Amino acid sequence: MQQSLRSLPSVDRVLADPRVREALASYRRDIVVDVVRRRLETARRDLAAGGSPLVAFPELVDGVLADLTLLGRPSLRPVINASGVVLHTNLGRAPLSREAAAAAQEAALRYSNLEFDLDSGERGSRLSHLESLVCRLTGAEAALVVNNNASAVLLGLTALAQGREVIVSRSQAVEIGGGFRIPDVLRQSGARLVEVGATNRTHPRDFADAIGSETAALMRVHASNFQQIGFVTKPTLAELVQIAQEVIWPGAPLVIDDLGSGTLLDTVPFGLSPEPTVQQSIAAGVDIVTFSGDKLLGGPQAGLIVGRAEQIDEIRRHPLTRALRVDKLTLAALEATLQAYRRGKAVEEIPVWQMIAVTPESLRERAEGWRARLAAAGLPVAVVPGQSTIGGGSLPGETLPTFLLALVAPHPDELAARLRRSNPPVVGRIQQERLLFDPRTVLLDEDEALLSAISAGSTQA
Ligand SMILES: *Cc1c(COP(=O)(O)O)cnc(C)c1O
Repeated sequence: MQQSLRSLPSVDRVLADPRVREALASYRRDIVVDVVRRRLETARRDLAAGGSPLVAFPELVDGVLADLTLLGRPSLRPVINASGVVLHTNLGRAPLSREAAAAAQEAALRYSNLEFDLDSGERGSRLSHLESLVCRLTGAEAALVVNNNASAVLLGLTALAQGREVIVSRSQAVEIGGGFRIPDVLRQSGARLVEVGATNRTHPRDFADAIGSETAALMRVHASNFQQIGFVTKPTLAELVQIAQEVIWPGAPLVIDDLGSGTLLDTVPFGLSPEPTVQQSIAAGVDIVTFSGDKLLGGPQAGLIVGRAEQIDEIRRHPLTRALRVDKLTLAALEATLQAYRRGKAVEEIPVWQMIAVTPESLRERAEGWRARLAAAGLPVAVVPGQSTIGGGSLPGETLPTFLLALVAPHPDELAARLRRSNPPVVGRIQQERLLFDPRTVLLDEDEALLSAISAGSTQA
């Protein structure tokens, strides 16, 4: 054993290897030295344990180069989403439109008038860029953009209801996911939650009866990730607005609506049930509406707060607004996304809507194309009907008919794991002894990468 330990090369000898010397051009020397040391240390431990045979020098160098490649690979990488979940929260929710990505790139590469008023030459506001566009699209008087919808809700409640009461239906004191619970957010904001009604049924009078001198707001929270069916009822927004307006003393409470996804387009023409639109909330007379930028809006992560000018001004002046402010890349991408709505081109240009609007016929054609290619390579594939989902906290339980590529795999878990390790990684769905791939969520330029990952993954088995 002594013999073998001594036979391990020195760090310098490994560093002198031509392949390792070449790697020194792309990696800092101390990082390469560290990787070599670790490899040698592992080899030494293996030898001392008597378990493994002598490490050949070329293999040792292979190992060093493999470690370096892993170090050089970005941690955040593009993934092919073949799961059929359009707004997959773990896969980054909405992919951006070309226009939005290009706008973010320009904002990233150059200086901009982010906080500079080009007319007066004086300091401007980063929040001014989107406001008129958002108002035009939603019908609101004023608008504000923050980091995400969770911060929009927190900020709105902090600025408008701190130290006072907010009345929420018991069926809406919910958890949205990722640790976002309405009761906790309310507590964090310094507002006091007043829950009314029963879990399944809340009536307008439950709200009316709970209003007192301490009431700052009546709040509705959209049930964005669950459904209640059966013996259920809750007040409409119009009823909440009416109840609030009927309060003469000590002044009408606000009506706050957390829409969650919030869509500007009607979902019904796409075969989905109606997801409440931002315009509907504003038209119903709601004072403050909050929604996400990267759910059905199809833009970057952001939280939009729209509503009455007086309340939006109050929120704008709150110190927390600065802490939750949105980055210029986000602003650029969000503005470009909203411009697609202004042009009436959202369904054509925004990936989330393209994916929702694509016809089952063209999904079938695409899946058939994949099947033909993989069958020619000898893989056990078929095209089967199935369902895609919207996901990401919108339209719970709703599905869209699709056609899936089904690949028979005796050990589907192992194949799925290999596909996650391919480059780019592929995420499909496992169903019994099959792996399913939904063309709906695979971007059009990803076909080749998907098919080669599937072939390579299947033949390694
Ligand atoms: C998704 C969601 C949130 C959180 O929005 P993020 O943009 O993820 O921060 C809050 N409320 C509701 C009702 C939601 O659906």
